[in-house]
Amino acid sequence: MLQKLQRIISEFFVTRKIERKLQLLVSNIHKSISCDACSIFLVDEQNRQLVLMATEGFYQEAVGVVRLPLNNSLSGLVVKRAEPISLDDCSQHPAYYYVSETGEEAFHGYIGVPVIHNRNVLAVLTLHQKAKACFDVDSETFLITIASQIADNLAHARISQDLDDILNADVPRGAFHPIAGLPGAPGMAIGTSCVMYVPTDIKAIPDRKITDIDAEIKQFESAVKNVKQDIAELKIKLAETVPDDELALFDAYLLMLDSQSLLGETVSHIREGQWGQAALRDTLQDYAAQFESMDDSYLRERGSDVLDLGRRILRYLREDNEKDRVLPDRVILVGELLTPANLTQVPIEKLVGVISRHGSRTSHLAIFARAMGIPAVMGAELIPIRKMDGCKLVVDGYKGDVYVNPADEVQQRYQRLIDDEARLTTKLQELAGLPAQTEDGHRVTVFLTSGLTADINPEKISQADGIGLYRTELPFMERERFPSENEQCEIYRRILELCAPRPVHLRTLDIGGDKALSYFPIVEENPFLGWRGIRITLDHPEIFLVQIRAMLRANSGLNNLHILLPMISNVAELNDALALIHRVYGELLEEGEEVVMPKVGVMIEVPSAVYMAESLAKRVDYFSIGSNDLTQYLLAVDRNNARVAGLYDALHPAVLKAIYQVVQAGHTYNKPVGICGEMAGDPAAALLLVGMGLDSLSMSASSLLRVKWVLRHFSRNRTRQILDDVLKLEDAELIRAHMNHVLELAGMGVLLGAGD
Ligand code: PEP
Ligand code: MG
Repeated sequence: MLQKLQRIISEFFVTRKIERKLQLLVSNIHKSISCDACSIFLVDEQNRQLVLMATEGFYQEAVGVVRLPLNNSLSGLVVKRAEPISLDDCSQHPAYYYVSETGEEAFHGYIGVPVIHNRNVLAVLTLHQKAKACFDVDSETFLITIASQIADNLAHARISQDLDDILNADVPRGAFHPIAGLPGAPGMAIGTSCVMYVPTDIKAIPDRKITDIDAEIKQFESAVKNVKQDIAELKIKLAETVPDDELALFDAYLLMLDSQSLLGETVSHIREGQWGQAALRDTLQDYAAQFESMDDSYLRERGSDVLDLGRRILRYLREDNEKDRVLPDRVILVGELLTPANLTQVPIEKLVGVISRHGSRTSHLAIFARAMGIPAVMGAELIPIRKMDGCKLVVDGYKGDVYVNPADEVQQRYQRLIDDEARLTTKLQELAGLPAQTEDGHRVTVFLTSGLTADINPEKISQADGIGLYRTELPFMERERFPSENEQCEIYRRILELCAPRPVHLRTLDIGGDKALSYFPIVEENPFLGWRGIRITLDHPEIFLVQIRAMLRANSGLNNLHILLPMISNVAELNDALALIHRVYGELLEEGEEVVMPKVGVMIEVPSAVYMAESLAKRVDYFSIGSNDLTQYLLAVDRNNARVAGLYDALHPAVLKAIYQVVQAGHTYNKPVGICGEMAGDPAAALLLVGMGLDSLSMSASSLLRVKWVLRHFSRNRTRQILDDVLKLEDAELIRAHMNHVLELAGMGVLLGAGD
């Protein structure tokens, strides 16, 4: 049974056209289960109907014609209840809806199973049999298993088909409906998509339409010629050391490169208007599928030879394409799982938006996008990336929506919202030189959070009280080896100088989790619960010591350095880290360097640190609450996982209570408590944090003036009252709604996102 199931699912996945996919599915199920008819109906939400999309057993003419009302049919009831219904005689059920076109009067036994994606019923799979009997439990569970496995793929296929309809329509038309993702970084943008993909991943190559077909064919032929030449040269080079029968393999490669199926098929895809890379992708994928289905292992091996040759051709094509590529003026980066480093691959003045199929609001990509003021949509799992290169897009980072080829009305509406927002930003510039303080003059320290040199400049720094968190990971991520002590020293010096005399909180290396170094791979089942942050650097003191040396030397004569230790989960880690810092300090003094001992703080971002806050407070100079991780660990919600992103909310009462407890513990020992997680830049959360008595808030430059604006409208006492009210609420959603109401009443509803 398992084998049958796997075959049905894998055929469903590899078939591209939705009609063919569904027909194959019902035919395969019909073959595998004893039944007289198997069909699939798709939900048409707009018309409140179920459309028969494919059948094996009903009359074929009914496909695409038969539509069942959602509120008055058996399969409609399956949708409503979102659970299977099994009957021995469907015609006797009160919800039975007879249609003559299918020939269903011949059938009695019935099962309908919903296909559910993200809590939405997309389709209903049905089985019918002539006998007046229920289907057995095995058939029912088989159908349920299939329905659960095809749901994601079906959701993708539907969006992809809609997009095809829009892109290939005879009369150009635009999308009125968005593809939903998750809010990543606030803001809205209109631009043109540039798909980023891993060059070695053939299936990730996006479609791209071309107009000069002859030039594209010429480019492809020249790439093939280059590969042939490389192989011929390699053969000559190896002729003396490799036996003749193995050298014959090179001749086989040369023959393959001449083969009509590889060349001819690719050229014919190009003639359909596809660029060379995607044309070759389609040829190679067809090949791979054919070879994979072969039983003979020798022949299967030949499949990987073809893929290898394909990759070689692609390398040449890519080189040519990169040379010729002209980026649009307003680039929206699109990719599977973009990384912060991708943001630096497009000139900053051209980059207006980011869309990542995976990840969520607190993934580091989103955090960096926010720091740069670039709207981002994360976890847009349904976007058909391959079809999206060079498309006009609207990105709504407040709602997490993406419009591909938006209709004129949509575009105009967004243009208006973008203009309104630009006006607000200009208006808020009045606050740039003013301190962040409550209506009654209580001063709150506001810091910038940074990590890219591109996201800070003297103007931004002048609006803040310093840098509250500098993530040192990025200089490490951008390189192909660990940066040397001197290289690090230079980077840190630049930042310390730029800010002096304002304080800069340099965090020690916090890799692991979703921040990987290409030259220091960490493979773990549970990276966020694994080797991360201080755990790595204490295990590798050579990395830690070099970094601390670089920080202390960079601080010479400036004295605005604060060191921040990430991911501390117990006192021993803190003691060890402090001992190493003191050791470096002593050694540098011995070496005659003019260094001072900086203030050292600890990040409170692991639940154990909340409960150990008093013990930690005794040992350090200050606390900085890392609410991104603290929320993830308290709520057991992976901050990178779009599927559970709905459960991730820093306004969860448990998170607020934990933060409050940390503030009280820190203050008991007279240690300042700041926050450097993303919630500090959320105007609603900022009010609550000030109510709790936090001493500093560290946020991205794009949030700074908004937070100043809000704080200046509320008195200190009012923030305490709001906090008291909120702490009585037991649910994050209620708290969010309450805070939205508070902001709206204060006339600041505009901060809640796009205005519609
Ligand atoms: C945090 O966890 O809140 C934090 C600021 O650190 P990072 O987002 O880099 O993990
Ligand atoms: Mg963290």
